[in-house]
Amino acid sequence: MIQKKAETGVIASSSEKKLFELLKSSVQGLAEAEAKQRLNEFGANDIQQAKKQSQLQAFMKNFVSLMALLLWISGAIALFAGMPELGVAIWLVNIINGVFSFWQEYAAQKATSSLKKMLPTYTIVIRNGNNKQIDAKNLVPGDVFLIQAGNSIPADARILTAEALEIDESALTGESETVNKDEKYLKTEGKFGQNNIIYAGTTVARGTAKVIAFHTGMDTEFGKITNLTQKQRKSKSPLQLELNRLTKQISVIAIVIGVIFFFAAVFFVHYPWSKSFIFALGMIVAFIPEGLLPTVTLSLAQGVQRMSKKHALVKELSSVETLGETSVIASDKTGTLTQNQMTINHIWLLDDKFEVTGEGYSNNGQIQKNQQRIDIEKYPDLKQLLVIAALNNDSKIEETADKKAKVIGTPTEAAHTIVAEKAGIEIEQLAQEQPRLKEFPFDSNRKLMTTIHTVNGRKVAYVKGALSSVIKCSSQIMVKGKVRPLTAEDRQKIEAANKHYATMGLRSLALAFHELEEPSNILDKQETIEDDLVFVGLTVMADPPRPEIYAAIKECHDAQIRVIMVTGDSALTAKSVALKIGMVGNNVQVITGAELEKMNDKELCTAVKQEVIFARVAPEHKYRIVKACQANGEIVASTGDGVNDAPALKQADIGIAMGVTGTDVAKDAADMILTDDNFASIVAAVEEGRTVYSNIQKFLLYILNSNVPEAIPSVLFLFSRGLIPLPLTVMQILTVDLGTDMLPALGLGAEKSEPGVMKQPPRSQESHLLERSLLWKAFAWYGAGAALISTFAYLFVNYVHGYSFMNLAEDGNVYVQATTMTLAAIVFCQIAAAINCRTKETSVLTIGLLSNRHVIRGIVVEIILLILLMYVPILQGLFNTTAIGPLEWLFLVIIPVPLVLIEELRKYFVRSKSLESQVYKK
Ligand code: ATP
Repeated sequence: MIQKKAETGVIASSSEKKLFELLKSSVQGLAEAEAKQRLNEFGANDIQQAKKQSQLQAFMKNFVSLMALLLWISGAIALFAGMPELGVAIWLVNIINGVFSFWQEYAAQKATSSLKKMLPTYTIVIRNGNNKQIDAKNLVPGDVFLIQAGNSIPADARILTAEALEIDESALTGESETVNKDEKYLKTEGKFGQNNIIYAGTTVARGTAKVIAFHTGMDTEFGKITNLTQKQRKSKSPLQLELNRLTKQISVIAIVIGVIFFFAAVFFVHYPWSKSFIFALGMIVAFIPEGLLPTVTLSLAQGVQRMSKKHALVKELSSVETLGETSVIASDKTGTLTQNQMTINHIWLLDDKFEVTGEGYSNNGQIQKNQQRIDIEKYPDLKQLLVIAALNNDSKIEETADKKAKVIGTPTEAAHTIVAEKAGIEIEQLAQEQPRLKEFPFDSNRKLMTTIHTVNGRKVAYVKGALSSVIKCSSQIMVKGKVRPLTAEDRQKIEAANKHYATMGLRSLALAFHELEEPSNILDKQETIEDDLVFVGLTVMADPPRPEIYAAIKECHDAQIRVIMVTGDSALTAKSVALKIGMVGNNVQVITGAELEKMNDKELCTAVKQEVIFARVAPEHKYRIVKACQANGEIVASTGDGVNDAPALKQADIGIAMGVTGTDVAKDAADMILTDDNFASIVAAVEEGRTVYSNIQKFLLYILNSNVPEAIPSVLFLFSRGLIPLPLTVMQILTVDLGTDMLPALGLGAEKSEPGVMKQPPRSQESHLLERSLLWKAFAWYGAGAALISTFAYLFVNYVHGYSFMNLAEDGNVYVQATTMTLAAIVFCQIAAAINCRTKETSVLTIGLLSNRHVIRGIVVEIILLILLMYVPILQGLFNTTAIGPLEWLFLVIIPVPLVLIEELRKYFVRSKSLESQVYKK
């Protein structure tokens, strides 16, 4: 049993032996059974979320908002004014609205919070002496684990060994400078000052280390702090803010209209005060768009959920709408546009070339020359190259339960492990013969990785990296096993070979070594070590484009979204891949990192306006590229995976991290995470973003249009000075607005992408949700039509029962029937509207009349509610409704048919007009 709460100070100052005793562990790590038992004892390595706002609080919030208070007061006034039914109805509306809003927010919250579970953080632990990748949740005190640049540290741990380790502790201390740490114990002041301790929640900025966990989960310093000051990342999206504002504006307008109607009723129609008041109140309540905000939130959350099914996890609702505006995607190449399944096909030496057979991560291929298997012992420089490939390597290939190869580490390195295995090299044995003394890990600025080994008692550095980096530091070359100075002619030959492979879209890496001189401090001198190299050769690998990339790129072009490749790979390889996938034309400008550095911001802004590729760039360059695009007014989505990509990811309007190969730091900085690292998923998310926005417009159109037929009867009543008896009572207005309309409106929020959403240019940032064309369509087209039909329905009943226009029924059964008909006609017009609003230009028949079951369900419920209102006696009394005859029913059922047909005709004309203009443009 280990001490449950070992003191950090004691852990830091203990000798290594004592440390292992305290934590009952060893360099070999824990045994599996022991780890399992400790997991039971200490619990999962999880930071529990502090209790958020309780559900009760969230529920109550909906009843004390400004709008709700307004309704409570209105209801109370109605009660006191002797209109108990109306008072109760308004309160009921308030309650239904509150419950409904709560439910929508709850559903939205559930949809987004479940996303977190989809993204486990992995850690490499040593158990029983073997490296093993586990979910960081299962890490226990005593576990020995490995960390490297980009990792977020999963537990409080003491360093056992470290290489150039730099930790970013800003999450804990607020200090933005990284701190160097290693295994040495230094007595320090301050809570987080221990030199040999790393804390959960901080991140590795550089280097690697082997560490041992002593506190996990809520016992960690981070856990303790989190418990006290847990902050929820929660920002309202611009869309939600706009709607908030809009709701308030509409409410004010509604109140103003209500006041005007009140005075008009009193002074113009000479209605009694109390009746006028009720009349005006009804109008106000009907016009205030109570449920709008939660409906939008739900719609955004549903979008987020649909995106997660398409491998794009969005952290904040606001990203959904930004995605819809995206006009530029700055994308990495390796792994995002390509498969990141490197296979080395060729090995190039100055005077020899070899082919490597076998695909992917299976090692059953061989190294051949002239199609004959070769014996590497006969080719000393090839052997040297393969030794470097095997040892300058942190990857491991494991076999999964279903006999598939699983790579731990990067695919580039895995390809090097595989090529060494194909040559018959026993990597483990070799690693014992040439033990590793030190490593300078790969970083995308140097584009080099170096390991130092003891070879026959001497220290030798093995180096691999981008040819441009390696050749710069090489002064000699190995040919046929002999080392000689590197001549200008050799350089030319090497560059030519590299160019030859790059134009084929292949990616090559240069391998070299350096026998080190003896000074004892040589191991600390990275610059001396990575210099004076002996160049050995190139490994040439293929990384085929992802099969779905061709369609995704085309979709971007159709949607007028520009894709800019920003890669660490060489210019020629980048261009060749970009051409192959149809991303650019032959005249594309390729700018390298070195060239970019010479450009000022203005030049860069001009450059990114054209078709362009950035190659051999460092992550800092990506930040500048993103900023330059933004300065041109673009909405930029940028991908990234490394620690240094974080600034670019933060700067981009949508930072996109890779879920599989991405570091924890990148994932943290990003707004969206791709669970499959695939570019096509970005495009799918953009499409979803556009869809959500247009769906919100669809249900706004739907909700707003019914205000016209609701208001017109009152206007008629007022302007005829009461000659036309009120065709729609206040209670009936409320029924439509807060009863029958709700479900179909929600259904519209779940509409699938309309064909053609990705054939339009990105939405402009200036565009508003409630654009003028939408208002026109709502009021002057759908609304006017519905007002006409419902007024006609009202007159129709009067006419059928022998009343004339100049002499309409004022009370009694015919009046009630007539108002019921107005109500029913509005409901049936709304059925047509629900169908019509589903598409903007496409025919609903193309997307399938029944394809949105939420809308269909909404319509069915709408009809059932109407029937209940008309036939259930209590409801009849409450809503002034009554049963209607077969002729009236016939009238009602026919209503949607012409409405849908006329709208279809309009859509047809719009479509053919836009087709015409396209042809004209061409
Ligand atoms: P992208 O930026 O599109 O993802 P990339 O993987 O080529 O492409 P980086 O990871 O920045 O970009 O790598 C830059 C270059 O560094 C590579 O082109 C390669 O030449 C070299 N390189 C990559 N991985 C390693 C490694 N593990 N060891 C040594 N050199 C490497």
